Parts: sequence; structure tokens; C-alpha cells
Amino acid sequence: MEVATVQSLLSQERVIKPPESFRQQANIRDPGIYDEAAADPAGFWARVAQQMVSWFRPWDKVLEYTPPSPGTQPPWIKWFIGGQLNACYNCVDRHTTTWRRTKAAIIWEGEPGDERVLTYQDLHRDVQKFANILKSFGVRKGDRVTIYMPMVPELAIAVLACARIGAVHSVVFGGFSAEALRDRILDSGSRLLITADGGWRRGNIVPLKRNADDALRECPDVTDVIVFHRGVLDATMVPMKEGRDHWWHRMMEKAPLDCPCEVMDSEDPLFILYTSGTTGKPKGQLHTTGGYLVGVTATHRWIFDIKDEDIYWCTADIGWVTGHSYIVYGPLSNGATVVMYEGAPDFPDRDRWWALIEKYRVNILYTTPTAIRTFMKWGESYPQRHDMSSLRLLGTVGEPINPEAWIWYYETIGGSRCPVVDTWWQTETGSILISPLPGITDLKPGSATRPFPGIFAEVVDEKGNPCPPGVQGYLVLTKPYPSMSRTIWGDPDRYVQTYWSRYPGWYFTGDAAVKDQDGYFWLLGRVDDVMNVSGHRISTMELESVLVEHPWVAEAAVIGRSDDVKGQVPVAFVTLREDAGEGGPKAVDELKQYVVRRIGAIARPADIFFTAELPKTRSGKIMRRLLRDIAEGRVLGDTTTLADPTVVQNLRQVYEERYGEGS
Ligand code: ATP
Ligand code: MG
Repeated sequence: MEVATVQSLLSQERVIKPPESFRQQANIRDPGIYDEAAADPAGFWARVAQQMVSWFRPWDKVLEYTPPSPGTQPPWIKWFIGGQLNACYNCVDRHTTTWRRTKAAIIWEGEPGDERVLTYQDLHRDVQKFANILKSFGVRKGDRVTIYMPMVPELAIAVLACARIGAVHSVVFGGFSAEALRDRILDSGSRLLITADGGWRRGNIVPLKRNADDALRECPDVTDVIVFHRGVLDATMVPMKEGRDHWWHRMMEKAPLDCPCEVMDSEDPLFILYTSGTTGKPKGQLHTTGGYLVGVTATHRWIFDIKDEDIYWCTADIGWVTGHSYIVYGPLSNGATVVMYEGAPDFPDRDRWWALIEKYRVNILYTTPTAIRTFMKWGESYPQRHDMSSLRLLGTVGEPINPEAWIWYYETIGGSRCPVVDTWWQTETGSILISPLPGITDLKPGSATRPFPGIFAEVVDEKGNPCPPGVQGYLVLTKPYPSMSRTIWGDPDRYVQTYWSRYPGWYFTGDAAVKDQDGYFWLLGRVDDVMNVSGHRISTMELESVLVEHPWVAEAAVIGRSDDVKGQVPVAFVTLREDAGEGGPKAVDELKQYVVRRIGAIARPADIFFTAELPKTRSGKIMRRLLRDIAEGRVLGDTTTLADPTVVQNLRQVYEERYGEGS
């Protein structure tokens, strides 16, 4: 790999130490934990598993592991073999025998402003009743259940009820279309679907039941549908298919109260979850019980520094892995209080999140760079309307966060008082793998800092040799860890092919990264997104970061367009801040010069396009592969996980106006 030009990122390195007051109260205060874990990783994870998770039966052996390789079949990875437990027991039951019985588990607010609080005891009751309903439909251990719901407490209840009886849940994000739902139901082989009449999003109804009905036309194996009445439609307006569709509330009225937890083996499946589809067709990751629960409980406790008194809010949807791990399983296993919000950040106005933080006195906020950049675009007046002094810790996940956005988050939202934990992980990894521990890690804006204790990551070149500091390469994981996905559901060969064939014995993440002199990891985006301009490897992340630092720019996506002479040339798609005007030829020149000044002529964008929105997945990630398709005049690849298809259509039109069709 050519010498990288990541210098603009690394050179502006600023170190922010966690405030002394934070350090002193942190759950992890001793940096010795890294060495302790490195000395005996399996022993370290066994101690964590013992301390943080309740087991019905202890394990006989901590780990059995054969690195997946072509031609071999699962199981390749087993943690806590012989151990027995139940994830729902850990998230619910064990708190009901302590004072937490009356503690708020979920503080929920709907988009229209309706509110509910569920204690751990409330959860215990509703989860057991709903688990009995599932059983009454013949759902047994190992059966798959698809869940397609709005962000209401019943979504968490449905998930936990599945875990309670050993059913494998497959949650499909409520923003997905009927086709996306259909594909996931068919792939998982579910016979039962849990949905709702609809949900609220920006004042509009999300027609979940209608989509479900459309999807089910092509899912002959689904025999039963349980419909939660969110109340966006009058119950009489919801078409219910006789014999197939059942109202949640009707069933709950007569469901028996007690449902014992199924005893699960550590390696019994817990759930299937499809990846976001940023790079192609979504992959159904299979996670198992023991290792996953250990991973999410430990990372949630240490990275979010959770305390019993905290009010913790993760803004993700439970339909994504972030919601699985850091709204449901991690926080509830830790007996935490979570805030759950149904709707859009700009309803009724652009200060809704800040109003929620003020209202519930939220202490810990976990969100995405894409949300942060949107708030930057809207301007500071919205957060300034609210008292957010309750916040003490901030987190981000989902994409590389450019230093500019990190600093904005730190200063404008956190009042320069709250450590920011930039957490790198994937649907595949189940829990956070690279992140600061906020009481001991000196922070560098733009860097996810270091692998979590017991996690072993490296940045390597094509041949697998470690890259020296400052040289970018491929991020790999060199050792097994408890929460890793065990296979791709129904397609073990794809699992081996995607993650294990590039570097035998190591997990290939698909992400590019660079380590600095201090051993800090800087994530640079997808490997496929790294450009090769006249033999220079330039990360899209770096160029985007520089563009976003320009005062006019709110968000930028950069791709490499094929070029006969240079191999590839950078093309930038830019969203301007609302006070920066429309963007014309002058702005194009200004931004090009800015990039040249900051990185060098080599990175000068060949083209800059202005757009009100960038194409994003429904989880909010920029889909650069579609921008590449547009810039190279190709038919668009898989667009089923796109949030707003009109964005690419408009961009294609703008592109063709400039270059003529088929350019
Ligand atoms: P698909 O695998 O279907 O293309 P996806 O990779 O977007 O979809 P996820 O599992 O939701 O699906 O996302 C994981 C990816 O998100 C990581 O591989 C990485 O590229 C990116 N990511 C997540 N957190 C961070 C972070 N803190 N910094 C940089 N990148 C991140
Ligand atoms: Mg991925």
C-alpha cells in the first residue's frame, strides 16, 4: 500500500483529558486492566462473565475456537461451553429480587408527547405474559420470530419474551419497506410476525401493518401475526385477517402471569440481525446467548460508566444492533434506566432531543455522527434553548466522526464537561470493540482510541504485516472475543468468504484505519471507499473531514471516480450549512482551494456537487457506493436499505445535466 496522506487528520491531534471529577468516580479507574486482559484473554473474559452475568449452571470450558476457513462448517467459535443461562433472566428477573424491582427500566416518550414509565417489575409481568402468548402460538426454543414495530416499550417486551422462551428474534427496523421486510422474513424462516398498526415519524403515520400485509402476501409460512395497537389508527380501521391476525392487547388480557425462563446453553442462538446494507446485500448475523450477553454487559458498564442513578439515552432504533445491545440487552442486564423515544429529532421542532434531555435530566447520551452533523447544519440556537447540565458523558457510533463534529458535540452539547466516547463496532461484533474508557483514556477528537480490554485489533497491509504509525491499512481482529457473531444465518460460506478468507485466522473488518504514534486507532471508512489517486491512497474520511471543517460545509461525501490518467479522482458531494447559501461556482472554487491548502493538490476534488441531502441508509450512514454508481454512470446497486430514494434520483439528474447521459 502506498504511503497514506492521513497527516491532515493526525497532525491536528488535540488531546482532551477526562475531567478529574469524572476520573474519580469512574467505574474503571485503573489502566492496569489492559495488561491484565492481555496477559490471559480467556481468563479475563471468564472473570467478567462470572462477575456480571447470572448463570444457571457454570461453564466447563471457557473457549473452543477454530478460525473459520474455506470448506469448513460452523461451529467455529464457542464461549463458556456447558454454561447455562437466560438473557431475559439477566435483563429482567434478577433485578426483581432486589430494590431495582421498583426502579424505572424504560422511560418512554412517543412522538406526539405521550409518556410511559415501566419499572423492572412491570417489565417482568408484561414479558412473562407475552412469552406465554408466543408459546400459545406454538413458538418453541429455536423458532424464529420476526418483529417489525415502532419504538414503543412493547418492542423491547417482544424481544425479551423471545429470549425468555428461547425463540430467536429477528427485528426488522420499522422504517423498512414491505419488500425489505419480506426478504428478511423469508431468509429467517419465521412463522410468526409481531407488528403494530403503525408508528409516528415527523407527524406522519408509518403504516407498519399495511407494509406487513404487503410483505406477507409472499410469505406463505407465516401463520400468525400479533398486532400491537399503537393507536395511530382507530382499531376498527386496521384490517385484521381472520385466523391470522391477533390484537396484542386482547391476548394480553387473558395471558397467564407466570412463564419460567427457558434454560439456554451458552451457545444457543439469541437473535439474527441483518447488517445495514451500506456495502451491499444485508447479512443476517447470528448471535448466541452467553458470549453476547457478557460482551454487551461489560462494555455498557465500563464504556458508558453506568451508575444506578443514571438516566441513559441511546437514540438508536432497536431495529439496529446499537438498539439491541445498548437499549435492550446491555443496559437492562446492568439494571439501568433507559430513555426510549419514538419519533424524529425535528418534531415538532428541531430542539426535540434537547427538550427530552432537559425534561428527563438525561446523564448519558449515545448517538451517531450523522445526527450530530445534522444538528450542526441546523445551528446552535436549538441546543441553546435548553438546560443540558445533567449530561455527564457522550457517545457516538455508526460512522467515523470527523474531528470538527466531535468538537462540536463536546462543546455545544456537552458544555466541554463530558468525555466523548467514539465507539467502533459492527453488527457482526455484537458489542463495542474500540473505544475509550472514559475514566482513564485521554481523548483525541476523531479517534476511537484503543481496543477494549480483551480485544485484539491490528492495522495491517495487504500481506498482513502491521503498518507503522501513520500508515493506513486494513483493520483486523486477531483473537476471538465473546460477543462475535458465530455465522451468517443460512450462509456459512458467505461468513467465511466475507470475514475470514483475506487473512487466514484473522477477522477482516472491511474497514480502513491508521494507528498513530500513541497506538490510537483512527477509523478511515470502508476499505472499498479508500481512493487511489495516481498511486496515492486517500481515505474518503480524511477528505470529508477537511471539507466539513470549512465553515460553509455541514456534511460531505467523497468518492473516487475512475479516471484514465490518475486511476481515480475525488468527487465530492456537499451539503452546505443553512446559513451558507446555495453553493455556486464560487463555492466550488473555494472548497477546492481549501482542500489543496489542507491536504495538497493530490486531493483536489475533480468535481463538487451541492445537494440538500446525501444518500443514506436507514441507519443514517452515507452510501458512497451509490454515489460511485452515479459518478460512473452505472445502474444503481442495491437500494433497498436507502432512507430516501429521491435523493439519489435528484443527484443522478444533476450529474447528468452537467455531463450528459451515460457519463
Ligand atoms: P453492511 O455490512 O451491510 O454494509 P454496515 O457495515 O453499515 O452494513 P453496521 O454493522 O451497522 O452495518 O455498521 C458497521 C460499520 O459502521 C463498521 O464496519 C464501520 O464501517 C462503521 N462504524 C461503526 N462505528 C464506527 C466508528 N465509531 N467509527 C468509524 N466507523 C464506524
Ligand atoms: Mg458492515
